[in-house]
Amino acid sequence: MTQVLSSSIGYPRIGEKREWKKALERFWKGSISEDDLLRDMKKIRLTHLRKQKNLGIDLIPVGDFSFYDHVLDTAFMFGLIPSRFKERDYSINTYFEIARGNDEAVASEMTKWFNTNYHYIVPEIQSDHTPELTHNYPLQYYKEAKEELGLTTKPVLLGPITFIKLAKGFEETDSDSLLEKLVPLYIQVLEELVSAGADWIQVDEPILSTSISEKDLQRVKDVYHLFHSQLPGAKILLQTYFEAVDHYEEIISLPVAGIGLDIVHDEGANVAALKKYGFPTDKTLAVGLINGRNIWRTDLENKLSQIEEILSETQRLIVQPSCSLLHVPVTVETEQDLDPILKNGLAFADQKLAELTILTRGINHGRDSIQEELTIQMEKRNQLWTLKQNASKPRSDGTDLLTKRNSDFERRQNLQQAFFDLPLLPTTTIGSLPQTKGIRQARLRWRQGEWSNAYYDTFIKNNISEWINRQEELGLDVLVHGEFERNDMVEFFGEKLEGFAFTRFGWVQSYGSRCVKPPIITSDVSWKESMTVKEICYAQSLTNKPVKGMLTGPITILNWSFVREDITRFDVTKQIALALEKEIKALEEQEIRMIQVDEPALREGLPLKPEKQNLYLEQAVYAFKLATSSVKDETQIHTHMCYSEFGEIMETIDQLDADVISIEATRSHGEIIADFEIHSYKKGIGLGVYDIHSPRVPQVEEMETNIQRALQVLDPRQFWVNPDCGLKTRGIEETEAALTNMVDASKKIREQI
Ligand code: GLN
Ligand code: ZN
Repeated sequence: MTQVLSSSIGYPRIGEKREWKKALERFWKGSISEDDLLRDMKKIRLTHLRKQKNLGIDLIPVGDFSFYDHVLDTAFMFGLIPSRFKERDYSINTYFEIARGNDEAVASEMTKWFNTNYHYIVPEIQSDHTPELTHNYPLQYYKEAKEELGLTTKPVLLGPITFIKLAKGFEETDSDSLLEKLVPLYIQVLEELVSAGADWIQVDEPILSTSISEKDLQRVKDVYHLFHSQLPGAKILLQTYFEAVDHYEEIISLPVAGIGLDIVHDEGANVAALKKYGFPTDKTLAVGLINGRNIWRTDLENKLSQIEEILSETQRLIVQPSCSLLHVPVTVETEQDLDPILKNGLAFADQKLAELTILTRGINHGRDSIQEELTIQMEKRNQLWTLKQNASKPRSDGTDLLTKRNSDFERRQNLQQAFFDLPLLPTTTIGSLPQTKGIRQARLRWRQGEWSNAYYDTFIKNNISEWINRQEELGLDVLVHGEFERNDMVEFFGEKLEGFAFTRFGWVQSYGSRCVKPPIITSDVSWKESMTVKEICYAQSLTNKPVKGMLTGPITILNWSFVREDITRFDVTKQIALALEKEIKALEEQEIRMIQVDEPALREGLPLKPEKQNLYLEQAVYAFKLATSSVKDETQIHTHMCYSEFGEIMETIDQLDADVISIEATRSHGEIIADFEIHSYKKGIGLGVYDIHSPRVPQVEEMETNIQRALQVLDPRQFWVNPDCGLKTRGIEETEAALTNMVDASKKIREQI
């Protein structure tokens, strides 16, 4: 009889109640010691191992855990510390400083992990770096699991090719010499693991799911052949995820013991390749068939048939989620307030692992052995589907689909300049202002019914008015209301629109200790009441300077939600866009003349394969324009995005036809400027002049340098001065200090123009 194993590629770090986040933040604040932190983290790690064990998973990962980010762990493990930090000081403080910056040094760049909303710290590899093995994390955790729980686990590490592809600071031509230095260290790590008794070792190479060059493919071959010749006994499982692999034949021929493929996000390509080219009989295929990126209960019947289909091609199987479960919340169990039908239809990390165990049993012991579970699962899914279908009766509101502004940019620019009369290099912020503990507590009191609506409203108004005064005193040119009424930029809108559901503990790690709680789009999205008008108009009533209306864009709402799967994502996006269009009209009716529609997640949804990107971008542009095109020429549409890989989507950004865009730039250390040497961009643009992810207050000169650098490639008449992103995670004092310097910097340069 077939014997397949169940495996977990990675488990969420944050804990059921975000214990992980809380421990980290307490440590950063200085309220717990390093020993306390280590103890708390260990407890969390062991709890996660125990849980996976109890769920019946055969191969439980270690080394997927991290104190911040696994890419940073890999860099740190090899001693790759940027020289502006304490080199060769491999303490936990240095580790956190690389991620968060310190008073003297800016943090390393942070960017999105493939097409997810997880952000990793970009390794900086300098030519004078000599990598060395500082910590063998997977080994440490492997031993810990054995000693503490008697568990034999599966160590996980980030593979060398993906690691160097994600790193920066060196020329691509230096990749080979870099690999020459790194590979022996990898071999040492693997060797130590094998000596300690490790069986399967998972080496993640998600880069293989993107379109890699022939050269990189050769590097993959060289490295894995070397691993094999040096470590014939190491049982390496080469793991890919997020898409199909482009070079299936070459990859399955690599001398490794197992290959992990995602058969959920590959649009059938991996399985098609399997059927076409077969699979070597001496290798194990690890099939990622439970969706690790969404939260719906799996159609187990369908998965069983898929496995049967695969079994007719190859016999040695491991079944697993499509990727690490880092991207989904921990458990549905703790959700008390959800509609029971919806709750039954959901599967977070723990439920997905339970599904996996059912499937494994079904294959190993025959379908009959899981008949009862299959029936229950099907009932749950059917109920959910019925619920969704009831809600999604076709809507015909006769909306005219307008996707083009009335006039072209030049004409709009003139009208807008005449209307707003802004100085050169106008200063503004991205929207949110410090969300202090006081504000979060107030919201909680109000939500728990302790505060009345009126009382809470007044509280919010007081904050708005306090900050309108502050912004005027600081001398900013375009003001914001501060977003104090918002918990989160997507959840806030989701709560006010029709069609969303919310969990209480459904958190997912976004970067470092920052977690997000994606709403769930369960049915048709539509506008039911004004969402932002009250606060924006109040703010505008207090000042003569323009206050920007502030909305989250359709693509971001989509990408930062868990989305129903019974209609296409594009259809859902259009529904959101039309709902936002109504809100924009409502703002305009109240004489709000600058409206920012944030799209920080636009690039995040970009498919990994180039041939799929155009359609996605076209649809994104369509949705943005659907939301924003109906405004008057004088109304200035702003947008904001949080990343710096601008070049490749410059055309798309231009097509959005926003009058002003603000974009993050400081963490990419000026690289973005180079993009403008290649592409010309004529509309209003603010390249963030300081990093907001770190508490550090930048000096005036530093920001002047950033502005001047931008002005080498951009016209002063189009340039805006703003921070990289919203200020909600920052304290009041540091924000005031930083903005004072920012306004100063802008004024100084203005005088020189
Ligand atoms: N307006 C939002 C804010 O300032 C934008 C946040 C973001 O881009 N992630 O918080
Ligand atoms: Zn941002």
